[in-house]
Amino acid sequence: MLDWKDGLPYSVRYGDVYFSADSGLGETRHVFLQGNGLEERFAALPAGANFCIGETGFGTGLNFLCAWQLFEQTAAQGASLDFFSVEKFPLHDGELRAALALWPELQVQAEQLLARWHRRVPGWNRWSFAGGRVRLTLAIEDAAQALPQLQPGCVDAWFLDGFSPARNPDMWNEAVLSGVARASCAGATLATYTSAGWVRRGLQQAGYKMERVPGFGRKREMMRGGMPGAGKARTTPASALVIGGGLAGCAAAHAMAQRGVEVTLIDRAPMLASAASGNPRGILHARFAAGMAPLHRLVLAGYGHALGLLDEVLPADGVVRAECGLLQLASTDAEAKRIARLSALEWPAHLLQVVDAVAASGLAGLPMMHGGLWFPGGGWVVPPQLCARLADHPRITLHLGSEVTALTPHAGGWRASGDGFVVEAEQAVVCSSHQARDLSQFADFPLQAVRGQISELPATSESGKLKAVLCAEGYCAPALAGRHVAGATTTFDDEAVDVREADHADNLAQLAAHVPTLYRALGQVDAARLRGRAGVRCSVPGATPLAGEVLPQLYCSLAHGTRGLLTAGIAGEVVAAAMCGHVAPLPLMLLDALSPKRLRRNALDGE
Ligand code: SAM
Repeated sequence: MLDWKDGLPYSVRYGDVYFSADSGLGETRHVFLQGNGLEERFAALPAGANFCIGETGFGTGLNFLCAWQLFEQTAAQGASLDFFSVEKFPLHDGELRAALALWPELQVQAEQLLARWHRRVPGWNRWSFAGGRVRLTLAIEDAAQALPQLQPGCVDAWFLDGFSPARNPDMWNEAVLSGVARASCAGATLATYTSAGWVRRGLQQAGYKMERVPGFGRKREMMRGGMPGAGKARTTPASALVIGGGLAGCAAAHAMAQRGVEVTLIDRAPMLASAASGNPRGILHARFAAGMAPLHRLVLAGYGHALGLLDEVLPADGVVRAECGLLQLASTDAEAKRIARLSALEWPAHLLQVVDAVAASGLAGLPMMHGGLWFPGGGWVVPPQLCARLADHPRITLHLGSEVTALTPHAGGWRASGDGFVVEAEQAVVCSSHQARDLSQFADFPLQAVRGQISELPATSESGKLKAVLCAEGYCAPALAGRHVAGATTTFDDEAVDVREADHADNLAQLAAHVPTLYRALGQVDAARLRGRAGVRCSVPGATPLAGEVLPQLYCSLAHGTRGLLTAGIAGEVVAAAMCGHVAPLPLMLLDALSPKRLRRNALDGE
């Protein structure tokens, strides 16, 4: 809870200020930037290198914005900054805006942060700024939970800024300090305004060599520290080839290109998004259960990430994307129970709200018989447009109409070859859905083809009133150019893409059963005359996608099932970060759940 004291943000909960009354900016620069020698270290970074700062207590983001500004002023072009921070009690939109208005000199950076802030979800958030030069990973949870989930050895410098140890001992406990030390690389540094003896001893015990130095303003002393050893520069791979030009491949290519990797994107079809990502519209639907198993945590993190990525590359204009909101209707007893369990957890209103049938009707623009969950950020996207925007990058070269039949190790990297062509690169990423099985390295992956058909339904003047995406067992999007899109069927182990009347009938039957008012508003619909599209998605048992390293320098992003719009973007970040040695966008527990190596572990367990 943010309050104000003498014109400065103040926490009622902790009885402490967010930054010094003398000068927040001056304090940040003295304690954290100078305390870690950042100006010199940024300036010494070779082009293509990466620097990672870790912070305890994101607060108003002042430290982040100051570090970002200094990085832009001092680091070479082509170097990138990762900033990891943790915050248990994120400020509300208006609070953050008011707090950051104090610093006109940081306005350029602050506006970019403010533009993403309403995309935050509980758990881990990953946003990229300044054309990918600066990335923020913000864990919205308790520090003691988040820090042990950071990869070991990924942080170069720490800002320890979690209110005074006396007022907030939880931020300085053993789990937090040992998490800080474990995530530190050799030669990492830290700085903090506190000089409390027990914090110093805790950090020493965790492995830091500590010293007291003059503090800022009225504070006589602060502390800084260093890990033994010399830091190793992380260098970006020169080149990568990506097999598969759907959402997974385009997102991975985009994430790598933003990190400075030269990418060749190969697809057998003559254009991008020709398979499962080729539907005229897809819906942005975050569906999770209260248990928050790894798949649901991934969906939540993926949803927040996808919205930020879309804001970056495909702004909502009502033609290629609409942020019209999405209603998940409690149209069955089972769904009503799931929604009730979910609503017992605390959710920020900008993410989801529980609504009754009256409110749902107002949001939908048509009478609804059920209430449910309202996702204000939900909506629809034209997936081929998203693919095109993601792949539109000067470091991405398209190699279309080329079917890769073999992937072989070559000259310390990989060679993809097919009829009449060869592409070579240092790294390879396979994103070719169930067709990955055709490559020897993936032959034993349990990838399953799942056929899905959508129906395009002509809008009537009544159905045209629909303003939001409706989801029950199936879904229906508001009309665009006179048509709704409704879907989708699910047929396992069927790779045919013919459009079937029976599947249209199934889509209509779902609507009739779960959203009868919309069904009636559509008037007489003849399934035999409908347009539609069928695609084949790829899934694995358990439905958690596969993203990460398969073999040295070989990665994959596969099995996104029906959730590609939510999970392909974050999976691309997982792959690109792993390849470049950058901090991951997800906690270790989720990286583990996504890892293709889990297949081997599962196979061994079954033996
Ligand atoms: N670095 C911030 C800035 O630039 O504005 C100021 C940080 S403020 C001094 C400390 C922050 O730590 C507060 O936002 C508070 O909500 C957060 N915090 C306190 N205890 C926490 C905990 N156990 N886990 C995560 N965050 C916590």
